[in-house]
Amino acid sequence: MSFEKRGEAIDLSHHLSDVARARNPSPLKDMMKYLGRPGVISLVGGLPNENYFPISSVSGEILVPDSFPLEDADKPSSSLSWFWRLFGKSSPAERTTPFTVHRFSDNDKDLTLATSLQYSMAKGLPQLMTMINEFTEKVYRPAYSNYATGIDLGNTDGIQKSILTLCNPGEGVFFGEWTYPSTINTIKPYGIHPVPLKMDSQGIRSDDLRDTLSGWDESVRGMPRPHVLYTIPVGQNPTGVTVGYERKKEIYGVCVDFDVIIIEDDPYYFLQAGPYVPKSDRRPDPLAALSDEEYIARLAPSYLRLDYQGRVIRLDSFSKNIAPGSRLGWATCNPLFAERLERATETSTQAPCGFGQIFVTSTLLQWKYEGYIRWLKGLRSQYKGRRDDFVDCLAEQFSLRETVRTEGHLEGCTVYEASLRAQNIFVDDKTPHVAVLSFVPPTSGMFVWLEVHFENHPLFGTLETTTLEMKLWTDLAEAGLVLGPGYLFSATRGENASRRRGHFRVSFSQCSLEEMKKSSKILSSVFREFMKLKSITVV
Ligand code: PMP
Ligand code: PLP
Repeated sequence: MSFEKRGEAIDLSHHLSDVARARNPSPLKDMMKYLGRPGVISLVGGLPNENYFPISSVSGEILVPDSFPLEDADKPSSSLSWFWRLFGKSSPAERTTPFTVHRFSDNDKDLTLATSLQYSMAKGLPQLMTMINEFTEKVYRPAYSNYATGIDLGNTDGIQKSILTLCNPGEGVFFGEWTYPSTINTIKPYGIHPVPLKMDSQGIRSDDLRDTLSGWDESVRGMPRPHVLYTIPVGQNPTGVTVGYERKKEIYGVCVDFDVIIIEDDPYYFLQAGPYVPKSDRRPDPLAALSDEEYIARLAPSYLRLDYQGRVIRLDSFSKNIAPGSRLGWATCNPLFAERLERATETSTQAPCGFGQIFVTSTLLQWKYEGYIRWLKGLRSQYKGRRDDFVDCLAEQFSLRETVRTEGHLEGCTVYEASLRAQNIFVDDKTPHVAVLSFVPPTSGMFVWLEVHFENHPLFGTLETTTLEMKLWTDLAEAGLVLGPGYLFSATRGENASRRRGHFRVSFSQCSLEEMKKSSKILSSVFREFMKLKSITVV
């Protein structure tokens, strides 16, 4: 489809939940057309007087977009420093610009406290929405013309509002079999059920989605055929998997065929590190030297790029690329859904916190679109460095070998299999090594998903996998290393307890290099002991 000749969203109003249909616009809305007229005196809104806000100005310092690398104190001189030196950048202390927002301003275009801290119903600050709209159009290039954006309090908020706008109690929502637990916790109290789909190295499998939809029997399943799919396509939480363009096309095609709405929860979109290359073969990062336009063009396309019908609600968040405490994000979707989401916002959160909006908007106004892209590019390099460091640390502690999976959900995929010397585990074992865990180095995001080979454990078959997983988790925690236990991320919470392997989610976003080294040492020594266990007391 030619980008210039974009059509409009189709009518998808039949997807709205009963609650979404029942929402009325605020009575003030109809009056707004008068309020914009010059000379009109408004005595209508119950707004507090801006002169009495006890804060008369807000100021701060913002890093310039080319600030990276921001070295961790204990990190060796970054392999990326050469890139930043090209820009002639020096110490972090020099890399800030000040800003101040006053209560009032003579210039209509300026941010003011009078506007930012005042009620604004469900709307974001106009300056912020202008930036968001420019960004959405240039980066995601939606495939239809009348898409709309609406502000929210980050993706947690966007997820809840989207699902309740689309689903009634008793309905189901499709999820990957491993998923972000907060979304499950969001829907369950409303009587909305997760329907898990199989995943592979490309995320949710399109064949399983198609088979599940085409074979759906309401009387067997006890609920109508789901019409909503929740997906985290980049650096998936918890598996770290990124969905490629072809898989996205397949999934989108199935959703068109079966009339399914996609909720694209994509907070890790800008942490697209690219493939892991072992330390010995590593060269300077080729992506770092790309122009901004080339860099954007190389990012995995959002579902918005494919969505010619308007059946995707894309959720963006400033949490992972500015700060989670800003509680700010936005949804991009067809105008009907956007309008219903706005109604939901009017009676729940209203506009996001004015202070958060001031800081994020001031930052983006300083940086402008080009600066924000440079910031995101630099941020990606930082997380790429962390991903590389963490996998390097594992490689130092375990004997890692690349192997192509011949069975299971990663069939055909190259994984790193970590083994320990068998002599240290089973005294009489003839094989030199025994595989204890495997993983695929993630190409995006913050997570490594460790798959634990419980089938090589002496107690395999006598105990449930979840029991082995929790025993290992406790041993690691006792030794000073706390990981995300796999069962927490199961869309069905432990119903697949009899599976052969266990999992742990490891996040490399925060720890220092020293902590990474220590963590992989703890992993290897705890595994060594764990694999020798001949009995476990289940309490
Ligand atoms: N309740 C009443 C009775 C109100 O008058 C208002 C503000 N107009 C609100 C709630 C909304 O309060 P808040 O800004 O704390 O959400
Ligand atoms: N969605 C996913 C998949 C996440 O991993 C997270 C954060 O951990 C969130 C949403 C929450 O995002 P936000 O801070 O924007 O609410």
